[in-house]
Amino acid sequence: MSSIFTKIINGEIPCYKIAEDEDNFAFLDINPNAKGHTLCIPKKEVDKIMDLDEVSYMKLMAFSRKVGKAIEAAVPCNRVGMSIIGLEVPHVHVHMIPLQSMKNATFQHKETLTQEEFEKTAMEIRGFLK
Ligand code: AMP
Repeated sequence: MSSIFTKIINGEIPCYKIAEDEDNFAFLDINPNAKGHTLCIPKKEVDKIMDLDEVSYMKLMAFSRKVGKAIEAAVPCNRVGMSIIGLEVPHVHVHMIPLQSMKNATFQHKETLTQEEFEKTAMEIRGFLK
């Protein structure tokens, strides 16, 4: 069965899309640590990051860097942090999180956004990818 993230890539489940290339896809995390929290994923469905082949891993990191730079430009923050966990969804994803403090990196504190705020945030980040 396809992972929830494969369903997002295929358009079967909606998302606030940020970017896509041949191998990777980025969208806003629905339960963000902070506004602008984005997930970068390979289109190839692999559970654990260490099982991703080296070429796909390098492409995912380069893609995440591009997305991270756009987040940093669009969302007021101290810096963008990266985190790879994967205990919830068995499809590799890089958390790109705008950080003000360590609180944003802990996954203990969540921010509630309206649909309009998600849409506006995604649009602003996309604006810095062009
Ligand atoms: P983890 O697997 O622990 O690294 O976390 C999975 C992340 O995926 C969590 O931060 C969730 O909020 C996020 N997530 C789960 N389902 C969706 C979805 N449908 N759209 C966006 N983000 C999601």
